[in-house]
Amino acid sequence: MKEITIKGRKYLYEINRHSGDYDTSGWQETIFYNATPITKTRKKYWLWGPTVEYFEYNELFRLHIDIESPELTKNFVTKKVMEKIDLLGRKEEIARGDILEEQPCDHPFVSKEYATQPYGTCMSCGKTILE
Ligand SMILES: [Zn+2]
Repeated sequence: MKEITIKGRKYLYEINRHSGDYDTSGWQETIFYNATPITKTRKKYWLWGPTVEYFEYNELFRLHIDIESPELTKNFVTKKVMEKIDLLGRKEEIARGDILEEQPCDHPFVSKEYATQPYGTCMSCGKTILE
């Protein structure tokens, strides 16, 4: 497994490649894991014997692409990975009613320092409004 940092958080990933014997496309996937291992215990000899601790990495998601493939652009791979990363926190967002991204305000007056400035400031609530 290799380590990768995304948005300041560490993840582990491994790539499974299977070059097709019967077709030229092959088959590949990248599996992402939480970088913090979870400790589990089991009996050394099935149901008896001393209890042994072992580590496991929690699988977070898998993509049906090889993220190290020179056939895929950095932009494409980044989009695919970021979409999955964003989905990881989605259940908690929905649970607390955080369904949509924050919307810009509906106030009508935006002040700009000069006419071609690409953003302005709402005169009612002070939010920065992008044009
Ligand atoms: Zn406003």
